[in-house]
Amino acid sequence: MSEAELKSEPKATGASPIADNLEAVRKRVEEVTGEGEAGKPVPRLVAVSKTKPLENLQDAYDAGQRIFGENYAQELIDKSPQMPDDVVWHFIGHLQSNKAKALVAGVPNLAVLETLDTVKLANKLQSACVSSERKRPLGVYLQIDTSGEDSKAGIYHSDLDACLSLARHLKDNCPALELKGLMTIGAPGDMECFDRLNACRDAVAGGLGMEAQALELSMGMSGDYEEAIRRGSTNVRVGSTIFGARFYPNKT
Ligand SMILES: *Cc1c(COP(=O)(O)O)cnc(C)c1O
Repeated sequence: MSEAELKSEPKATGASPIADNLEAVRKRVEEVTGEGEAGKPVPRLVAVSKTKPLENLQDAYDAGQRIFGENYAQELIDKSPQMPDDVVWHFIGHLQSNKAKALVAGVPNLAVLETLDTVKLANKLQSACVSSERKRPLGVYLQIDTSGEDSKAGIYHSDLDACLSLARHLKDNCPALELKGLMTIGAPGDMECFDRLNACRDAVAGGLGMEAQALELSMGMSGDYEEAIRRGSTNVRVGSTIFGARFYPNKT
């Protein structure tokens, strides 16, 4: 064996295409973070695995990924017991309040629900946490509509009263939930959505008397996570760049 071969790093290549994709995304996340101010923490990478089979999640797990994002309550309830216990789940889809109980009871490792936008859902999650005897508070992000597109769920970004009143409701009435940040999907190509989420976060933190930095910003997907990081994202949600394109067989 030549000296060059002896010195070469063990190669990720060959483990699985997903491992390679994951490694490439991690590297970009670190590089882009490194362009910013020194010491800036590297954002959390949520691997969005909706519609993907368990083998794909396991490949990512074997490559060291522990944080996964899913969009459909039933799909997550089905998948979570089949994955190792140390997986950290983020729910990133729209949740009907009548599914809150099944989701919380069925997914003990659910760390964050990123899509909270109504008092009604907060109350259902609160009682679901109590009835399922969750040990730790469930993290929640307020979902903010930063684009005004009809299809986007979330509290409209300029409705700061609504943002603040939901945040206060959590503090005052939902001890089993912990407000950890804000999330947006944004309109593809409109990077100002990320600035709007920043502004909303600053207003919510100010209204609650917290440091803005204490609240996370979940923004950035496959197409725009680099720009989202430049604009302050602390939590990027990347699916197709890691797992490949998705197919939706009659999924609603
Ligand atoms: C599907 C989805 C993602 C991931 O999208 P990609 O473009 O595949 O990276 C991120 N966030 C939310 C809310 C999603 O629904």
